[in-house]
Amino acid sequence: MWLRQFVHGLAVPGETLRGTRMEVLTFTGGPFVQNTFLVVCADGHTALLIDPGAATPDALAEVRERGLEVAAILLTHAHLDHVEGVALAKRETGAPIHLHPLDRPLYDGAASQAVAFGVPWEEQPPPEVDLVPGKNLTFGGSEFEVVFTPGHAPGHVIFLSTSDPVAIAGDVVFAGSIGRTDLPFGDYRVLMESIRNEVLTLPDETVLYPGHGPETTVGHERITNPFLIPVYGGELV
Ligand SMILES: [Zn+2]
Ligand SMILES: [Zn+2]
Repeated sequence: MWLRQFVHGLAVPGETLRGTRMEVLTFTGGPFVQNTFLVVCADGHTALLIDPGAATPDALAEVRERGLEVAAILLTHAHLDHVEGVALAKRETGAPIHLHPLDRPLYDGAASQAVAFGVPWEEQPPPEVDLVPGKNLTFGGSEFEVVFTPGHAPGHVIFLSTSDPVAIAGDVVFAGSIGRTDLPFGDYRVLMESIRNEVLTLPDETVLYPGHGPETTVGHERITNPFLIPVYGGELV
């Protein structure tokens, strides 16, 4: 099952429209109902595979069908459901794997998570590129800010487009919910600080593509999310 979402190059205040059309494709699958993202960059040819989970074969089929070139495998964090397709993705694309170093222990522990959950497992190649918050990534004419958002996982990051109002948000905020913090290395207080400082400060129209469930916007979550309203105000609609 997958959804196709076109994101047009919208001008942000103070910037001229540069024709930076980016496409976000969502592939959903597996027992965790996880979203694997394929982002087609502004050049229409370069692609990024973000959080390759159970639906990775579907995303790779799209890559082959459209003749895309995967320039990077980007991980918001290293929970099992977000990395279970990494080995396949690496084998098929050869693209370098990017991860924040604070999530390396989770990445290395994914094999034992797989055993615990009964998920088929193939040994993973190690990450090759350390994600550095504040150091932007540029691929195929599209640029992304790496935003550090720990709490659900210690090295969790969000990929925020600098040209389009779009963020690949991992498991920080969902439509109507927030990321779990009862898993090992989770921290509720830290997660809520990440949401306040890094998500709720984004423009309302910013589209959030979470690791589970449908996309939403910062503005919608600001006024409707039952986990955020008691803490940060807002109103139910
Ligand atoms: Zn997670
Ligand atoms: Zn997840």
